[in-house]
Amino acid sequence: MSQKTSVTLDDLEELFAIDQDTTAALRETLLEWFEANQRSLPWRETSDPYAIWVSEIMLQQTQVATVKSYYERWMELFPDVDTLAQASIEEVLDVWAGLGYYRRAKFLHRGAREVVDNLDGQIPDSAKGLKKLPGIGPYTAGAIASIAYGEAAPLVDGNVERVFARLFAIEGDPKTTANQKSFWKIAETLVDPTSPGDFNQSLMELGATVCTPKKPTCLLCPVRERCQGFATGEPTQFPATVKRSKPKKVSVASLVICADAAGEGEGEGEGEGAQVFLVRRPEEGLLAGLLEFPTTEHVPRKSVTEAFDWRARIDAALKSIEVSLPEDSALTPLGVATHTFSHIKMELHAFLLILEGGVDALVLGDDFARERGWYAVDSLSDAALSSAQRKVEALFLKHAAGETD
Ligand code: SF4
Repeated sequence: MSQKTSVTLDDLEELFAIDQDTTAALRETLLEWFEANQRSLPWRETSDPYAIWVSEIMLQQTQVATVKSYYERWMELFPDVDTLAQASIEEVLDVWAGLGYYRRAKFLHRGAREVVDNLDGQIPDSAKGLKKLPGIGPYTAGAIASIAYGEAAPLVDGNVERVFARLFAIEGDPKTTANQKSFWKIAETLVDPTSPGDFNQSLMELGATVCTPKKPTCLLCPVRERCQGFATGEPTQFPATVKRSKPKKVSVASLVICADAAGEGEGEGEGEGAQVFLVRRPEEGLLAGLLEFPTTEHVPRKSVTEAFDWRARIDAALKSIEVSLPEDSALTPLGVATHTFSHIKMELHAFLLILEGGVDALVLGDDFARERGWYAVDSLSDAALSSAQRKVEALFLKHAAGETD
């Protein structure tokens, strides 16, 4: 097999043997296969560019099965670009909470405002125009332009990269500039001019359901006969696996402060029953703008020994959000949860403080600018907590259930 790691755009056709016959055959085969095999997904029922924009942003870095319910709820609450533009960022994050990679929600919101404020409410109808909106890169622009507007715009995502790397036996790190250029050039060459949206989706669908990362089902694959990776006998050697740096290991402590509401219609508690205290995170950085139980700064995991003084860290965290606990408040350990972000492996030490004097026993300073307050435990599932903080909530609920059993 020839070495194909440093191609130029000029010799692409020669190296990958993508002639007119191959192009025509791949288009026909993939379109037929997609027609017969595509999964029924809510965003495939529409050609509304806004709906496709929302789904494409949600599908970046999140599995289809998870996206479905989020997409449906989002479209119910923000059915069009105007509604989204009018919503506050807090409302947007509340709906996004749990999907992760929250920058996506912020870009979507900013993009909607840009469309409404500067483009007369019209979403650009070309890949070139779409790329000018915040958070829309070449992939998303290609997806919206081809699916919603029928533009023969190419696209490459992780699934398409894998399919191309195998179909054309492209060696080396798929993220190198040379390989990225090859993938995009191949996508541009192959995209079907009459059904570009279906063609692009057929590639992504093939990657998601047949040409999967570890166990491709080549025997069911419509393009097997043309697949150079399959012909090598080891298709999974493409694309090459590249060692990524290990996530940093850190620990934090989160404090669940629980109290009874001050009484119906009184005090800061929302409604009746048990309440917990939440604070909104800063607008920048990890999990920006989401709610959380008061949480300490990160400390390196290796510094957390059995004798580690979490109490001092928790007091410092509370001071930074201008919260004072009653004297002699005793914290109960609830357990430890772990959560992995793309670059951080986090250990969350959860603690509980029950305020016997009700919500009014918590003293709040006046100068703190971010949102913070009491949330009814019964409606905590609606709060914009990150997945990591949901694990703290789960430890708390398990403890609470144990106490009442
Ligand atoms: Fe992927 Fe196998 Fe199909 Fe090749 S034959 S594209 S490796 S599923």
